[in-house]
Amino acid sequence: MEIIVAKFGGTSLGNGERIKKAAESVVREYMKGKKVVVVVSAINKTTDNILKIVDDAIGKAITEKQLADIVTMGEKLSIRLFSSAIESLGVKSEYIDPSKDNWPIITDNNYLNAKVNFKETEKKSKELLKLLDQGIIPVVCGFLGRDDEGAVTTLGRGGSDVTAFLLGHCLKAEEVIIVTDVGGVMSTDPHKLQTAKKLDKISVEEMRDLATHGAQVLHPHALRYKDPDISAKIIGFESGDLSAAGTEIMGPAENQMLKTSALSPRPISVIAVVGEELLTKKGILSELIDTLTANDMNIYGISTGQNSITLFIDKDVADKAHEVLHEVVVRNDNLSSISLGMEIAMITATGQDFIDTPGIITKITEPLHKNKINIVEISSSQTSVVIFVDWADGTKAYELVRRVLK
Ligand code: ADP
Ligand code: ASP
Ligand code: MG
Repeated sequence: MEIIVAKFGGTSLGNGERIKKAAESVVREYMKGKKVVVVVSAINKTTDNILKIVDDAIGKAITEKQLADIVTMGEKLSIRLFSSAIESLGVKSEYIDPSKDNWPIITDNNYLNAKVNFKETEKKSKELLKLLDQGIIPVVCGFLGRDDEGAVTTLGRGGSDVTAFLLGHCLKAEEVIIVTDVGGVMSTDPHKLQTAKKLDKISVEEMRDLATHGAQVLHPHALRYKDPDISAKIIGFESGDLSAAGTEIMGPAENQMLKTSALSPRPISVIAVVGEELLTKKGILSELIDTLTANDMNIYGISTGQNSITLFIDKDVADKAHEVLHEVVVRNDNLSSISLGMEIAMITATGQDFIDTPGIITKITEPLHKNKINIVEISSSQTSVVIFVDWADGTKAYELVRRVLK
């Protein structure tokens, strides 16, 4: 029988009526023959309120261990309420908090921002299967973990999304459903711009970049546990229907699952445009980009400095680009000169866990430094690091990066 993991955020549990509606939506899926694991966060702003009270009452004297223990109360209340609401509808349910033997989420002892011990969690989450086989709906505290010594930990703010995807992965669920206060993922935060439109789908890669740049709708680390064969969607609580269409999260693409590296097959040329205090001048970037676009030239990267803008473009079109951009420089009083520089190689390193691996850039660049390879430019996003080096160093640099990722 298929397993679904349904996670309810704070607003979807915002009052008694909403909790009832949420429990009904779970029972409806159960009646259709699904095995449902429920993950809940704290009601509304409970976590914020607890943190404020602790701060007012105890201030900096609170230890991280104490704070983690206190903040768990929000989720502990939610599981009890939710589980009882399910039972009131005539279906058996059991709430699971970190004090129970069958608690699944095992972490290190970084109390407020704990790292998941995946192997242990995978093993322990099998306990939930026993409940599901008996027709019991488990209701698990989101956001919380337990360390080796039995102390409670938390996965960081917004961490119940991580709990849902982690359990979905460990239980090989068919689907993970995130129930929240908006209808799905939108073109921007609907609380900031009313013109925001709901998206029918979004890729894991896009969602992760959106989340790490502040779109609270999903915790960026949650997607580490999203397999291509587990469906996932974000829906609004209003409809009270877990089958509702919200935003489907697609992927990740197979090649994103691994740590990979790639070397640009052809050299890339660097063009630098200089001018005084460029950062404060308007419209220069667009003029440069428009000119390249009008000439059908692709840009691999741009970096901006106080007095210069550097553009990375295909070597094959570099001479032509030099010529057309020079016309811009001559025309624009804010620009003084342009230079067509070296030929460089672009090495792209990608890994799902870069996002929470402190020092990953140092790890990747250190062997280059040791081998006296100069880095012309470096840029990084949540899951990739792109390094530009002299073309002559490209193959060697690529080999060194590849070894780091092995
Ligand atoms: P929950 O308590 O259900 O986890 P959160 O408050 O953590 O809910 O996340 C939902 C919020 O994310 C929305 O209320 C919205 O303000 C915010 N948000 C930011 N960016 C987006 C976006 N692109 N699409 C949808 N919601 C967004
Ligand atoms: N209740 C926790 C928080 O507010 C976890 C969550 O909502 O995901 O951060
Ligand atoms: Mg959230």
